[in-house]
Amino acid sequence: MSHQALRPRRGRFGMLAATGLAVLLAACAAPVQQADPPSTSFSATVSATPSGNPITVPGLSTPSSESPTPSPSPEPETPAEEPTPEPAGSAVDAPADDYTAPADQPQPEPQEPAQTEDRAIAPPQPASGGGRIVVIDPGHNGANGANPAIINALVDAGFGQTKPCNTTGTSTNAGYTEHEFNWGVATKLQSILSARGYDVRMTRNSDDGIGPCVNKRAAFGNDANAAAVISIHGDGDDAGARGFYVMTAEQDPAGAAMAAQSDALAGDVRDALVNGGLSPSNHLGSGGLWKRNDLAGLNLSLRPTVMIEMGNMRNSSDAALMSSSAGQQQMAQGLADGVSAYLG
Ligand SMILES: [Zn+2]
Repeated sequence: MSHQALRPRRGRFGMLAATGLAVLLAACAAPVQQADPPSTSFSATVSATPSGNPITVPGLSTPSSESPTPSPSPEPETPAEEPTPEPAGSAVDAPADDYTAPADQPQPEPQEPAQTEDRAIAPPQPASGGGRIVVIDPGHNGANGANPAIINALVDAGFGQTKPCNTTGTSTNAGYTEHEFNWGVATKLQSILSARGYDVRMTRNSDDGIGPCVNKRAAFGNDANAAAVISIHGDGDDAGARGFYVMTAEQDPAGAAMAAQSDALAGDVRDALVNGGLSPSNHLGSGGLWKRNDLAGLNLSLRPTVMIEMGNMRNSSDAALMSSSAGQQQMAQGLADGVSAYLG
């Protein structure tokens, strides 16, 4: 998603915001304001674990079944960033009726089914991970664009703000979508961290579903009492912008101590990405770090949380890297190393 649209606070970004807005309009689902809150039936799907089985992790209380329910604090994640109202072509036509009960969530993850099975048989216990819970949040979802009635419903974004339940995300000029990119990096990251002994949980278990809403995604990490939450996105910025940036909440919803933890996580992730050969953004944030006050996923999280724009999908160099499996693996490796550095 394009986060630049939200930087009105920063004068120097004025120009960018204008340009970025155009990008957003084309890339993101238009948040059509709707009075109705996200349907509850939808939330049920959100709880499904990456494997589709809510009880995959032995010995560890699985929050998956509970995640769908309203968490103590509503929290959104990624979609919140794209508040700009825009006409999303496909989204507008989709009949709201179709949405009865997202059948997508329960589907078994196509990419790494072996992981869940392993965990079900042998509890994670690897050297570094020790079974600690890491929540991975792949931004957006494949069926968001076809379900505007659900996706555009406004939800709590923290600190008095509201945001659309979710958005479609951006894409490269060649049409490679952000949700697919996010899913690719997330599943690779899941694989690496699982192998290291972490109890990895995903906020969505497929790339062809709807949502979940940003507040549900944030609740997922809270309910899991995650040791770390990693939200993955790709930006849709000016063509000349490139590089990653790691975002944390400007207003921490869980106190100074937790804010310090998120900052520590952000620093470790930034360092690991740099060590892995990736470059910090050349025009957003500072040194690959940026604090934001308008992202539900950060505003509503009560756990150490970072949201990362891995690169600019509208920049040719970043787009090439982000569209390749090798590039996604490089990014996942950097993220995994950052999480490991943070958790020790
Ligand atoms: Zn995004």
